[in-house]
Amino acid sequence: MSVKGEDVVRIARKLEKMVAKKSTDGALDLLKELKGMSVTLDLLQSTRIGMSVNALRKQSNNEEIITLSKTLIKSWKKLLDSSEQQNKSTPASTSSKESSSTKKSEPRKIPPPPKMTRFPPLPVTTDSVRTKCREMLTAALQTDGDHVALGADCELLAAQIEEVVFSDVQSADLKYKNRIRSRISNLKDSKNPELRKNVLCGAITPEQIANMSCEEMASKELKEMRKAMTKAAIQEHQMGKTGGTQTDLFTCGKCKKKNCTYTQVQTRSADEPMTTYVVCNECGNRWKFC
Ligand SMILES: [Zn+2]
Repeated sequence: MSVKGEDVVRIARKLEKMVAKKSTDGALDLLKELKGMSVTLDLLQSTRIGMSVNALRKQSNNEEIITLSKTLIKSWKKLLDSSEQQNKSTPASTSSKESSSTKKSEPRKIPPPPKMTRFPPLPVTTDSVRTKCREMLTAALQTDGDHVALGADCELLAAQIEEVVFSDVQSADLKYKNRIRSRISNLKDSKNPELRKNVLCGAITPEQIANMSCEEMASKELKEMRKAMTKAAIQEHQMGKTGGTQTDLFTCGKCKKKNCTYTQVQTRSADEPMTTYVVCNECGNRWKFC
């Protein structure tokens, strides 16, 4: 049975007018016509025909109209229920870890993008470390669900970024892992959504993000903080102090106080910023700051 949406729309309009005029003349014929049509969920929602039929049922004294209206509404309700069931079973809350990041996206309004043949195709790898790194990069790109609105192919982007890093380093060694790790932490950074969005929309290419320094990837806030730290360190140095710089720039994760001392060490290559080790003067908590 092929049914044109226009027919349903036409009937919906007529029923709407009848309800408005409180006249059910000719309604029975329209309802009978409707009964022979398969109304889709889209049509049901766009025409709001269910509301008209329900109003008609209430207005009419005709047994046949009432029964037919009830039957129609019942069948449409089934349609609605089954679509809701489908939405509920989408893997939105499979793990508590993921639920916070997927909460904001609304699966009902945004259908998943159709699986298409990729162009350019995914660069292939069979290496387990590289595959794992790609997965983690994909997850980082999917932080906060921006990729849905931007329609980005995170898997492809992740593979391209990883490919550039790998071809640059030539092996999946420590240097490779550090490069990947620093990309991931910056892409996931909740204080730096701009970087992620720029990568997702293509303003920053996979080649660029693969080669960016920690400094270039950093958020404005982090850049300001580094500047302040460097300044403070220089001042301390000039005063001849050693054993770290005291500061209120950091908040201790444990005791929430802002009384810390930090030391900066050049652990990676010279073009990367120094690694900062922080110790809380109140409770002794220690951590590493990118
Ligand atoms: Zn503390």
